[in-house]
Amino acid sequence: MDILTHTVTGLTIGSIVVNLLPSHQPVKKNLSVLLFGMLGGAFPDIDAVSLWSGFDAHFGKWFAHSGKEIYSGQWWYSHHGFFHSVVAAALAGFLSGWLIYAVRRLFRREKTFYNFWKTYHCPVFYTFVLAAFAHLVCDCVTPASTWGGVRMWAPLPVYIGGWGNVWWWNNYDIFLIVTGCFLLNLIWMGACALSKRHTATLPLIFAFTAFVFISVQVHNRQIDYAYEGAATNYQQMEKSSKKEQERILGKTIYRCMEKFDRRLPFYF
Ligand SMILES: [Zn+2]
Repeated sequence: MDILTHTVTGLTIGSIVVNLLPSHQPVKKNLSVLLFGMLGGAFPDIDAVSLWSGFDAHFGKWFAHSGKEIYSGQWWYSHHGFFHSVVAAALAGFLSGWLIYAVRRLFRREKTFYNFWKTYHCPVFYTFVLAAFAHLVCDCVTPASTWGGVRMWAPLPVYIGGWGNVWWWNNYDIFLIVTGCFLLNLIWMGACALSKRHTATLPLIFAFTAFVFISVQVHNRQIDYAYEGAATNYQQMEKSSKKEQERILGKTIYRCMEKFDRRLPFYF
């Protein structure tokens, strides 16, 4: 799935976590949860750096293969490899926590790592890992391509997913559901702050409803996007995916989304 949908999914998970935390949390902490939700949602695609046009010129000397070969290969650092795993997300979440602690300690704002973790970083860490896990699950329903899924449980050499329920991008319907869930949580956050009351029930209902809607959309696609190896009819599949979006969303919403898509400098 595209990077914007992954990032917004992470942000939405962050907003749910903020609404589930006990009330009167410092604003800084809530903002950190939201930020790390976004970062966790985008994190696994860090391995797509091998597709960057300047990769060979800058990092080529350290690898025996070109960036393109690395991207579509099955080495641990290839796309959908180790970085698309729960272990990598947990490590990144822990290390970023350690880095923040080290900086805060430098300015004498923290005494022990345990205290920092307990009072500040714990929900941030869980949000990061949860957002990255959501990314992995979303990638499972994209085509197998040259990887055969994602290496979710690395270091185990098993690739999961590659089911091809959805196309790589143009999943406007899923993006809209996730954005809707985020906005509802944001409104709820504001309502709780104003009324000084707090309940976790509604945010959980928002999350569950969004999950059901997304599952229905994923399983109700009328085109089979599954393929293995390098795609031969790539452009045709992309065209079909857009036509399907038009059928799902209706002409007006589809046109708005396509317009938005054209303005973005990356695949959406
Ligand atoms: Zn990914």
